[in-house]
Amino acid sequence: MERIGFIGLGVMGKPMARNLLKAGYPLVVYNRSRPPMEELAAEGAEPAGSPREVAQRSDVVITMLPDTPEVEQVLDGPDGVFEGGRPGLIVIDMSTIDPMAARRLAARAAERGIVMLDAPVSGGEIGAIQGTLSIMVGGDAAAFERCLPILQAMGRNIIYMGESGAGQVTKAANQVVVALTIAAISEALVLAAKAGVDPAKVRQALLGGFAGSRILEVHGQRILERNFRPGFRIRLHHKDLRIALGLGRAVGASLPLTALVHEWLGALVTRGHGDLDHAALVTLVEEWAQTQVRPHPEAPPPERSARP
Ligand code: NAD
Repeated sequence: MERIGFIGLGVMGKPMARNLLKAGYPLVVYNRSRPPMEELAAEGAEPAGSPREVAQRSDVVITMLPDTPEVEQVLDGPDGVFEGGRPGLIVIDMSTIDPMAARRLAARAAERGIVMLDAPVSGGEIGAIQGTLSIMVGGDAAAFERCLPILQAMGRNIIYMGESGAGQVTKAANQVVVALTIAAISEALVLAAKAGVDPAKVRQALLGGFAGSRILEVHGQRILERNFRPGFRIRLHHKDLRIALGLGRAVGASLPLTALVHEWLGALVTRGHGDLDHAALVTLVEEWAQTQVRPHPEAPPPERSARP
């Protein structure tokens, strides 16, 4: 079996690395802070002192880091993976980053004979723990085929999307749909609450029709329960829409709704709510509903709560 290096052992990376251990892969791990490395070392992984060392000791290196600058630093920075990797090494970046940066990094890797795949994921912490992530892959098709068993240890719905960057483009599209759907559900449930109809019943009714979705099911429930424990952090989704907007600008696609919800998420980050779950988008819609100064004359009595 390939020796795998894993860098970035956070909410997602730690359970993904654990699933590789369970599948029997020899694993070398590195993280900026030590505790998750020590935890995995107790389960059979070998800690390393730098990304460079991880690359020296691995056939395949996986990264699961917060954002583009961290991936650039860990791969192409001093003491990074590209410095330690020999020709033939495969790097799979599973973080969500800028697709254009993913392409640049793949080209830098190729200069050293290293093959890089972009393979961002969807499915959240629960998908990472259960090994049921959706994985969207861009890059060399032969490297994808070779790495498929490794990806299958972490996910179920694994799709090869095309050339380098195609996985990240797919993930950007995914994040647009998720954010805009949460915004739509927030507005719908606040509307129902303000109009005096039980939002829990509205969710139930909508789930059976065209408006039904996994997001209405999961995030709709979080909204009803006021459960904003992450899940997926607002600051990360803000980053993902920034990536989508940057891509839109680069390819000439105008994304007005994405821009709007990006602003909403930014406002929540500014208020110090960046670490809440993205379902907390609803708190802005509630606030606007509360401060509505001149209700329509036929509107229900104003004392009704805006909280779904
Ligand atoms: P996280 O912040 O929990 O984990 C990131 C890890 O990387 C941390 O352990 C941190 O210590 C480590 N790290 C940061 N900089 C480093 C560096 N320079 N060198 C070594 N280690 C470093 O983030 P996460 O929730 O695990 O998300 C990781 C990526 O996956 C992000 O791009 C995110 O957008 C994406 N993602 C997250 C989810 C989710 O539900 N959390 C779902 C899908 C995709």
